[in-house]
Amino acid sequence: MIRDTETLKQLLDTINRYVRERLRPLEAQVAEDDAIPDEIVAEMRGMGLFGLTIPEEYGGLGLTMEEEALVAMELGRTSPAFRSLIGTNNGIGSAGLVFDGTEAQKQKFLPAMATGELISSFCLTEPDVGSDSAAVKTSAVRDGDDYIINGTKRFITNAPRASLFTVMARTDPNIKGAKGVSAFIVDANSEGLSLGAKDKKMGQAGSYTCDVIFDNVRVSAKNLIGEVEGKGFYMAMKVLDRGRLHISALSVGIAERLIEDALQFSIERQQFGKPICEHQLIQAMLADSKTEAYAGKSMVLDCARRRDNGENASTEAACSKLFCTEMVGRVADRAVQIHGGSGYISEYAVERFYRDVRLFRLYEGTSQIQQIVIAKNMIKSFDQ
Ligand SMILES: Cc1cc2nc3c(=O)[nH]c(=O)nc-3n(C[C@H](O)[C@H](O)[C@H](O)COP(=O)(O)OP(=O)(O)OC[C@H]3O[C@@H](n4cnc5c(N)ncnc54)[C@H](O)[C@@H]3O)c2cc1C
Repeated sequence: MIRDTETLKQLLDTINRYVRERLRPLEAQVAEDDAIPDEIVAEMRGMGLFGLTIPEEYGGLGLTMEEEALVAMELGRTSPAFRSLIGTNNGIGSAGLVFDGTEAQKQKFLPAMATGELISSFCLTEPDVGSDSAAVKTSAVRDGDDYIINGTKRFITNAPRASLFTVMARTDPNIKGAKGVSAFIVDANSEGLSLGAKDKKMGQAGSYTCDVIFDNVRVSAKNLIGEVEGKGFYMAMKVLDRGRLHISALSVGIAERLIEDALQFSIERQQFGKPICEHQLIQAMLADSKTEAYAGKSMVLDCARRRDNGENASTEAACSKLFCTEMVGRVADRAVQIHGGSGYISEYAVERFYRDVRLFRLYEGTSQIQQIVIAKNMIKSFDQ
């Protein structure tokens, strides 16, 4: 759903220009330094990019899913590290509060997330708990008006920058599965909370992950999201359901960027006396990539509109994530191929994107988990 076409167009044009003129020239530097310059962080704050999805009453732009998808596609046209910087505040780091927080919790935390003054991260994964995320081992034990949290969270995006963490922890040790898990907002400066070393990743230099370690961290019961126990896992699944569509849209944007780079290279590069784009085997790669990116875009927009209409689009979100993240992997592979040997050399952006996009098939639910979600939903709806 697009609320106001003119306002959205202005936003998309602004982001498109910012990506082209400001971020793209910095891509190689960010990759080299493994850091996004401070002035870029400040500019993104000034543009309101940290609060795209936070409701307007808490200082954000309150984008609908369709609007968010279109913005994510624009942001996809540059290194995903830039999007990752604002990704948690707009998605997994804030959505739990937006969906299930009490009014007091929303008032307290969302405005500072919307401005980017606070960076928030989402702590679900643990050393022994990945795809089977209902098996959370981190514990939160009630102690008077507080809870005491113990455990380790792994691969937490933006943790080194975060001031706040949304933490899924088991409040009822007698319930092994989803119903024993609750969600808390935890201040990064809490006593007993520490960070592991930054992970050395395959790609997306400039975006950081690390362990978050809780050693008897005392958190007020007022920070239990929704102030009800046992809802944390279900909240996390709602958060990921929305996040899947965002990652799908981002994958489409990156695919479009890679196609642009590959097309330009194929027009400029000559072999056998003519531009390589005139060789039909190169054309096949370009055409397959274009077709698949278009299919992904159509899926994302259809699913986003369904969500905005209040439909349960969980199956379609999983289909979109499965298709779009696998699709961008194929497009990146073809982009490298079209560049020939140059595609293996870091001077060309396709080499970097090839590594960057590998992550999308792994986080916020691997491709196998999407397949499982889709098939389970199919079987459930057949029974009804
Ligand atoms: C850069 C990065 C950033 C991340 N950011 C965050 C974050 O901010 N917050 C957070 O909480 N987590 C984050 N994660 C964690 C991420 O969500 C998990 O890595 C992911 O969910 C997979 O879990 P795992 O790594 O434990 O793999 P596992 O679950 O151990 O899976 C290993 C393999 O087994 C397959 N598999 C597992 N179960 C099944 C099954 N039932 N059937 C078939 N195949 C199966 C998987 O698909 C995969 O191929 C991040 C990870 C990375 C790498």
